[in-house]
Amino acid sequence: MTRPDPKVITVFRRRLMHWFRRQGRDLPWRRTRDPYAVLVSEIMLQQTQVTRVAEYYPRFLDTYPTVRHLAAATPDQVREVWQGLGYYRRAAHLHRLAQVVVTEQDGTIPRDPAELRRLPGVGRYTAGAVATFAYELATPAVDTNVARVIRRAFLPGKAGRRKSGKAVGQQRGKPGTDSAVWEIAERLVPRRGTPAWTFNQAIMELGALVCTARVARCGECPVRSACRTGRKSVIADC
Ligand code: SF4
Repeated sequence: MTRPDPKVITVFRRRLMHWFRRQGRDLPWRRTRDPYAVLVSEIMLQQTQVTRVAEYYPRFLDTYPTVRHLAAATPDQVREVWQGLGYYRRAAHLHRLAQVVVTEQDGTIPRDPAELRRLPGVGRYTAGAVATFAYELATPAVDTNVARVIRRAFLPGKAGRRKSGKAVGQQRGKPGTDSAVWEIAERLVPRRGTPAWTFNQAIMELGALVCTARVARCGECPVRSACRTGRKSVIADC
């Protein structure tokens, strides 16, 4: 794999974060650094549209405001509050996770991605997302949207044309599993906490709003000058 030029990385980051500060959506889970609330949002966003999660997320947190409240509930109670979001296995995992955190971690959600991954239902993406969005760690979080942006921007050709799942724009979807994509993501994330948070939110937002699965709107993309696909065409339909 050809490593991206550090100068290109700098331009990519700066333009992306500048765009996000002006254009990023004000979503409820972006207003908190509570690890439990971030975790709930990440589990809900798996395979579910942002607009739908925005509807259910406050209700769930009103009912179970802390990990201890959730751990103390019965499976039927949790399922009832989850009703309407679908994919109930996620609710069961989240409930089990809460019980493990309370009994084995004294109610504290870990900050280390490796420890997070030991929790029920937490994969590489979700562990990275909680580490960066709750604890502002400089760790990548590669979901479908992020993987697509990275492939188009830094790995065009075979990897860049690869289908990135059914998620269109606003879903977390399946995590990117490609090791080259994760390696580039590691290089892209700023080393300091708050910028790392902003960068990870920003690249996800770009994949949701501009560089979507259906179309890459290169003509209106803030990182076009640092993107290998974008530099080749005004409107690239990948
Ligand atoms: S320039 Fe085009 S392909 Fe590159 S990140 Fe932007 S929208 Fe995607």
